[in-house]
Amino acid sequence: MNPRQPLGVAILGSTGSIGVSTLRVLERHRDEFNVVALIGGSNETVLAEQVAAWKPRMSGLVRGESRAPFPAGPGILTDAATHPDVDIVLNAVVGAAGLDATLAALRAGKRVALANKESLVMAGHLVAEAARAGGGEIVPVDSEHSAVLQCAAAQGAAPSRLILTASGGPFRGWDHDRIAGATAAEALQHPTWRMGSKISIDSATLANKALEVIEAHYLFGLPFDAIEVVVHPQSIIHAFVEFPDGSVLAQLGFPSMELPILYALTHPRRLLDGGVRRFDPLTAGPLTFEPIRHESFPAFALGVAAGRAGGTMPAAFNAANEVAVQAFLAGQIPFGDIPRVIDAVLSRIASSEPASLDAVRATDTEARRIAQDAAGCS
Ligand code: NAD
Ligand code: MG
Repeated sequence: MNPRQPLGVAILGSTGSIGVSTLRVLERHRDEFNVVALIGGSNETVLAEQVAAWKPRMSGLVRGESRAPFPAGPGILTDAATHPDVDIVLNAVVGAAGLDATLAALRAGKRVALANKESLVMAGHLVAEAARAGGGEIVPVDSEHSAVLQCAAAQGAAPSRLILTASGGPFRGWDHDRIAGATAAEALQHPTWRMGSKISIDSATLANKALEVIEAHYLFGLPFDAIEVVVHPQSIIHAFVEFPDGSVLAQLGFPSMELPILYALTHPRRLLDGGVRRFDPLTAGPLTFEPIRHESFPAFALGVAAGRAGGTMPAAFNAANEVAVQAFLAGQIPFGDIPRVIDAVLSRIASSEPASLDAVRATDTEARRIAQDAAGCS
């Protein structure tokens, strides 16, 4: 990449939490980047404001409620992801809806700054294959994976073991029965991050950390035995990275997605940026670590087991989780039923190998059907 030529950026999911944070980062680097496309899933008002401020060549809403001047329909995600003026696709769509754009962008040789971890979880091999075939590359936006990449890039060596940190979510200190009956308002109150509703619920069940273990497996090519998780309530250390000689590096910072977003845009370069709160160990205070309480957060082990099983099982886990989270947010199931629905799907569905795109889509559809049935809202 030529550092003097502004790089074209497409933001998919521009109206969400990561999308808005990305525009805040780009605002500070208008000479480095040019916003070519802004695509939202909903929220016409926010999109209209973004379009007025950035005047992208392409903009649109995916959902049906859009009126002129925005084109609508899922095809605009892949159109934006493959637009000839786009160098970097920041995929901040939530859920399975982000998969096609990730694949299309990689096949078109783009850098994908990936917040949409669900793409990699559903179809990790296919995503890697698309990158090889088209010459595209994936750079993670997820803070833990950005931490791993930053340590590995600084070292110029491949990690041999990872320890991803988890805040533990809003229910870290709660007892089992209280967690099972938690309300949506309680589950959405994340202690250290402000995020969209789906990932907030995933953080409360720890399903998010299972998605991240699978994400790390595909991003860094490490076996599941070499990817561990530790609860770290302060969210200051984002990951520990062990190298073959036993040395461990970690990446630190006050919780903010703006740094991992900026790094995903610039990797392996670093830009001068005053937007991120300066680190101060005294303000950060004591850093503590504890194990995951598996009996209270069964979604984590279910997700990691699906990752280890491979084939289309991770896609089944992802779909089951998406349906369960939606059912919980709609008031149809209690919080404690989210892992129950996931478990019902994983024990009833058959995995297929190899996980072709057709097999992934079929598993996604079937897992959603079983999950709706298990959630009692079919
Ligand atoms: P969000 O709900 O705030 O935003 C999601 C965006 O995707 C919105 O623009 C929405 O309109 C759009 N969208 C929703 N459904 C869509 C569909 N069917 N088709 C097209 N667009 C659709 O979510 P978020 O918190 O910004 O998270 C986005 C992604 O980034 C998720 O995969 C999440 O796991 C990941 N992520 C988020 C954070 C964070 O701090 N928010 C951190 C790490 C990773
Ligand atoms: Mg994360």
